[in-house]
Amino acid sequence: MVARLVLVLGDQLSVDVAALRQADKANDTVVMAEVADEAEYVRHHPKKIALIFAAMRKFAAELETDGWRVAYSRLDDPDNAGSIVGELLRRAEETGAQEVLATEPGEWRLIDKLKYAPIKTHILNDDRFIASHTEFETWAEGRKSMRMEYFYRDMRRKTGLLMDGDKPEGDKWNYDHENRKAADGDLCAEGPLKFEPDEITQDVLGLVESRFGDNFGDLYPFDFATTRKEALQALRHFVRHGLPSFGDYQDAMLKGDAFLYHAVLSPYINIGLLSPLEVCEAAVKAYADGDAPINATEGFIRQIIGWREYMRGIYFQQGSAYTTRNVLKHKRDLPALYWGGETHMSCVGDAVARTRANAYAHHIQRLMLTGNFALLAGVEPTQVHQWYLEVYADAFEWVEAPNVIGMSQFADGGIIASKPYVSSGAYINRMSDYCKGCHYSVTVKTGEKACPFNLLYWHFLDRHRDQFKNNARMGNMYRTWDRMDEAKRNRVLEDADALLKRLDAGEII
Ligand SMILES: Cc1cc2nc3c(=O)[nH]c(=O)nc-3n(C[C@H](O)[C@H](O)[C@H](O)COP(=O)(O)OP(=O)(O)OC[C@H]3O[C@@H](n4cnc5c(N)ncnc54)[C@H](O)[C@@H]3O)c2cc1C
Ligand code: SF4
Repeated sequence: MVARLVLVLGDQLSVDVAALRQADKANDTVVMAEVADEAEYVRHHPKKIALIFAAMRKFAAELETDGWRVAYSRLDDPDNAGSIVGELLRRAEETGAQEVLATEPGEWRLIDKLKYAPIKTHILNDDRFIASHTEFETWAEGRKSMRMEYFYRDMRRKTGLLMDGDKPEGDKWNYDHENRKAADGDLCAEGPLKFEPDEITQDVLGLVESRFGDNFGDLYPFDFATTRKEALQALRHFVRHGLPSFGDYQDAMLKGDAFLYHAVLSPYINIGLLSPLEVCEAAVKAYADGDAPINATEGFIRQIIGWREYMRGIYFQQGSAYTTRNVLKHKRDLPALYWGGETHMSCVGDAVARTRANAYAHHIQRLMLTGNFALLAGVEPTQVHQWYLEVYADAFEWVEAPNVIGMSQFADGGIIASKPYVSSGAYINRMSDYCKGCHYSVTVKTGEKACPFNLLYWHFLDRHRDQFKNNARMGNMYRTWDRMDEAKRNRVLEDADALLKRLDAGEII
C-alpha cells in the first residue's frame, strides 16, 4: 500500500476528523506543523496562537500514544519550511509518501493552497458539521431570502434535538423573546472554568511571548483548556453554572463581568476539542433532567445548530470574494481606539479592553458595541473583518467573516441580516450598566456631551436613506427621524460630522 501523509491542521484536533478516519495507522504519517505562514498572515492575538499551538502539541502526543506515527514541526525547528504546503513536501521527501489526505480547511486561502500543491492531495469534506455544503446549497437554492430561522428548524428536525416527534418541544421553535433581560448589576455569574498552564503550555507561552509578544493582546494570564479532557470539564462546568441563566441574560452586558452566563466554548468547538453535537446534547440532557429551562436550552442550541452552521453555509456558498463585499461603500480607516487607543466611550472602551485581556468578548459586545460603532462610523468592512479575525481566540474565517461582513456590517447587502444591526445609545443603556459612568450622556442628543451612538445613528440612517428607505423593518426609524424638526436634524448631522472629523484626525472621542 502507498504510504500517505495525513494532514491535521490546528483547528482539526479531533480523532474523528475525516482525514484521520480514512487514514491507515500502520502505513500513513500524520503531519502537524506550527508554521509562520499561518501564525503571521494576520497578527493574531497571542492567546489565540498559544491556545492553538499548546492544543496541537498535546493532541499530537495523544495520537502518538494511540499508535500513530506523527511528524510534528515546532515553529522554531530549524528545518521548518514555514508553510503548510512546504511542510508537506518536506515530509513527503523524508517518508517517500506520494499522496496527502487532508480535511477541508475552514478558509478559502488555505483550500486554494492545498488544491494547487505540487503533491497529489485528497481534500475530504469536513463532516464535523451538522449540515454538509450540499445540504446547505440545496436549502439555499431558489430562496428569495435565506433567513437563519428556517434553516435552523431543518437542523432541529435533522438532529432531533428538542423535538417531540415532528413538533418542537414546548410547541414553539424559538424562545428568543424571553431572552432579553437586562443585567441589573447584582448578577453573580460563575464565569468559565480556568486551567493552570502545564509544562507543555508554558513552553508554548515562552515561544509565543518571544515571537508574537508585540501583537495586540495580553498573553498572561493564560487559562484556556488545551486538551479534550479539559474542554469536556469546561463544558460540564458551563452546563451546570451558566446554562440555566444563559437565555435570560443572553443579550445583557455588565462592565464588571466579561463573561456573564456565556459558555466561552467557541474556541474549543472551533479547534475540534469539542463537537457541536455533543455540546448541544449536554444542554438538552440538562433540560430533560430539569436542570435548565427551555428558553435557555433552546436559545443555546439555536446558536450552535442554527447560527454556527448557517454562518458556515453562507461562507462556503458565497465564495471567496465574500470578505471583500462593501455594499454601503464605507471607506473610513479603523480608528485607533480598536487597538486600545484612548476613548471616552465607556462601552466600546470596555469591550476593547476585555478583548485585549481575554481574546474574548461576548456576542452582544461584538455585535452592538464594536460592530455597531464601526458600522455607524462607516469603517471599511474588510478592515473590520481583519480586526475580528486577529483579536478573538475563536476567530476562523468560515465563522468570523459571515458574522462580521454579513451580520455586523451589512456589507453583503442583507443576505444574513434583514436590516442593519445599528442602535443609538438607548439600547446600550437598557442592556448594560456602561452609561452610568460614561463621559458622555446617553440622554443627550446634540452638543459636546451627546453620546456618539446617538449622533452617528441618525447620521447613518440619513446617509443611507436610498439603501434602506423601502425596508419595512426600518420604517419606524425613518418616521421618527422625519418627525424631528429640521433645525434639530441639521444640528445632529453637523455634530455627527464634527465627531467623525475628530475621529479621523486621531483625536480622542
Ligand atoms: C462581529 C461578530 C464577530 C464574531 N466572530 C466570531 C468568530 O470569529 N468565531 C466564532 O466562533 N463566533 C463569532 N461570533 C459569534 C459569537 O459572538 C461567538 O460565537 C460567541 O461570542 C462565542 O462565545 P461563547 O462560546 O461564550 O458563546 P455563547 O454565547 O455561549 O454561545 C454558545 C455557542 O454558540 C455558538 N454561536 C453563538 N453565536 C454564534 C454566531 N453568531 N455564529 C456562530 N456561532 C455562534 C458558538 O459556538 C458559541 O460557543 C461573532 C459574532 C459577531 C457579532
Ligand atoms: S453614553 Fe453612549 S458612549 Fe457612553 S456608555 Fe452609553 S452608549 Fe456608550
